[in-house]
Amino acid sequence: MTPHKSSGRLRWPLATDDQAGALFPDERQADRHVGTGEYRGLEFLHVNARKIINSVPGESLPFKYTINAYRGCSHACTYCFARPTHDYLGLGIGADFEQKIVVKINAVEQLRAELASPKWLGEHIAMGTNTDPYQAAEGKYHLTQGIIRALTDAANPFSILTKSTLILRDLPLLVAAAERTEVRLDLSVGTLDRDVWKLTEPGTPPPERRLDAVRRLNDAGISCGVLVAPVLPGLSDRDDQIRAVVEASFNAGAVSVAASPLHLRPGVKEHYFGWLAEVRPDLLPRHERLFAGGAYQPQEERSRVSRIATDVAKDHCEGTTRKPGERQWTYLREFDHLARRHKSTEDAPVEQSGRVPVQLRLMA
Ligand code: SF4
Repeated sequence: MTPHKSSGRLRWPLATDDQAGALFPDERQADRHVGTGEYRGLEFLHVNARKIINSVPGESLPFKYTINAYRGCSHACTYCFARPTHDYLGLGIGADFEQKIVVKINAVEQLRAELASPKWLGEHIAMGTNTDPYQAAEGKYHLTQGIIRALTDAANPFSILTKSTLILRDLPLLVAAAERTEVRLDLSVGTLDRDVWKLTEPGTPPPERRLDAVRRLNDAGISCGVLVAPVLPGLSDRDDQIRAVVEASFNAGAVSVAASPLHLRPGVKEHYFGWLAEVRPDLLPRHERLFAGGAYQPQEERSRVSRIATDVAKDHCEGTTRKPGERQWTYLREFDHLARRHKSTEDAPVEQSGRVPVQLRLMA
């Protein structure tokens, strides 16, 4: 698909599926705004979303509803699984994905309307599933901030996954939201290795600042975990590298740690292999072997990542359980700060010690 360009506007051809079709008004036009100052190098494509709460098909994900106020992501992670969403729009999955950011400028108003509908039953909504809600554009448009306000007013439970410390801007809002509804946050931190971070996630804040955000969010009484993902073959997958980031996550007070090896679906795989060929051609043969069977690495490798994370968790947690057939372990750890919040809202049993056991999940 090739967008037709005309004086300051982009026009997409007719889009029929939910991924793209829900974005555009009848004219299927987007207003182009070239970024200046701190947004230089970015282009913002303003669209009106016809629908902002999207349902997720199938049962494979732990959430049924998502909101993505932006499409494309200036964090520019080279492995990003969401890159093909730009393809839907007739834009490229490489530089276009990183620099041409679709902004659903009516996201907050549209959300308030959908939350008020009698058809909406107040189910959990996940953010950060297809683009980072705290990428650079959020500093300019404040859509995520408005969405949090709308969800709080409706006492609608939500979760946010981000790589950005910009989330701390909204700390008071998130605390207020957590007083009214279930709020769950996760920071994604794949590695502590600064060279690997700069090479693979050039638009993101440094890993140690993200872990500091995890600490501050938990200290404020909001449950925040860490997603150690993706663990990158040949770059961040040595035993000591995985141990270090899982250990640092627990030390930052993360209420959960989920470690996940790199997977590469069609489209992203070609993009990632092309990037590797330029920056680390020595790693290509290994990747061709690892991904010969498809999008996922062999079970042996996935188990190794899981085992390392599990070993670290055992040092930090008091008990572990795993149901037969589950790929997920549950650990128990106790948190004073969450006990304080649960006490004030009386929404969970508080142990005599004043501490609340919290589930820790590890999967790979
Ligand atoms: S932060 Fe997330 S959505 Fe953004 S580029 Fe990185 S992986 Fe993709």
